[in-house]
Amino acid sequence: MTEARNPDLKIVDIKAYATSFPLPKDGNVRLGIGRAVKKDAVVVKVTTAGGIIGWGESHHARAPSTIAKLVETTLKMLVLGEDAANVQGIWNKIYDKQLASHGLGAGTAMAMSGIDMALWDIRGKATGWPLYKLLGGVSKPIAAYAGGISLGFQPPAELIEEARLHLAAGYKAVKLRLGDNPKDDLARVAAIRKAFGDDLVILTDANIGYSVADARTVMPGLDANGVAWLEEPFPAHDYRSYREAKAFGRVPLAAGENHYTRFEFSRLIDEGIVTILQPDLSKTGGVTEVMKIAAMASAHKLPVHPHTSMTGLNMAASIHLLAALDHPGYFEGDVSKNNLFRDVMVNEPYRVDADGNVRPLEGPGLGLEVDEEFLIKHPVIEGPSYV
Ligand SMILES: [Mg+2]
Repeated sequence: MTEARNPDLKIVDIKAYATSFPLPKDGNVRLGIGRAVKKDAVVVKVTTAGGIIGWGESHHARAPSTIAKLVETTLKMLVLGEDAANVQGIWNKIYDKQLASHGLGAGTAMAMSGIDMALWDIRGKATGWPLYKLLGGVSKPIAAYAGGISLGFQPPAELIEEARLHLAAGYKAVKLRLGDNPKDDLARVAAIRKAFGDDLVILTDANIGYSVADARTVMPGLDANGVAWLEEPFPAHDYRSYREAKAFGRVPLAAGENHYTRFEFSRLIDEGIVTILQPDLSKTGGVTEVMKIAAMASAHKLPVHPHTSMTGLNMAASIHLLAALDHPGYFEGDVSKNNLFRDVMVNEPYRVDADGNVRPLEGPGLGLEVDEEFLIKHPVIEGPSYV
């Protein structure tokens, strides 16, 4: 028992699984980044001398084996032998020796995100506390929207049928994919509004599919349909286009899933144009970094709506985070039809209730068990996951 209460948290091994599974050919979701043909993920396993194992997720970056290699080579060599409880010290070491000095930017941020999440999982398992408690939170209902790879470019009648399923599951908000073309995009939004009335919260995501001219055409129509945000009309670094688009309508602009570390969020917040902030725990630098981003957002009275990545690990971690923030936004529920990383690789990461809310898990750390056999049986399939 003493051992369990005082485990040796020295990091003795780090492993990164690049994992994939193909999606059935019929009914692939189409969205602004292409047609989804497979799902990829990078799952990070950190082992301590005392036997506690932590799990985390790095975003796959459409190059999962590359991100896994970075975790298992350079970053592993920096982190082995460190005290797993020293999450900030380990973050700083990776920042000093790799992220800040070698220009690897997004790749390193994604790779270190998975390690950081695993270290928080270890902290929870070492203390017996769920992550939300470690972060200073409490179990409470968190509003969720139907998101993930879903509600894509399909005829309005089919889109209405899909949305109906998500509402039946409890969701009170849905995110539609834009970036096909302004005419069809607006027809889909109008059809959903007409089918479900004014109470449904409609969010939209163009996945960087718009030109400034497209945004000028679409945004008044989004206002007319009471859309609650327009996500990533343009690439993350395209600040000039975001500034121009601000004048085209009232719909709040959202971004952040492709912004890395607090330093990029610092500029995003300072620009004062994007007011819906969407950091991804598996991309921007992990739990440690998103808490700093959330503190900056808090000073500006901006809510944080974390972008959800591929596996149940990120989903569970995002809910823990939201339960600990003073200004939580939405949890992005993953309503994609086929996701083994959500349904098979781990036990149930969340459940949506009849009011459209989720709650954080109660087990120590992230509160999830990972089926390592699943990871071994689903090796990476090289190539892009959207074509
Ligand atoms: Mg998005």
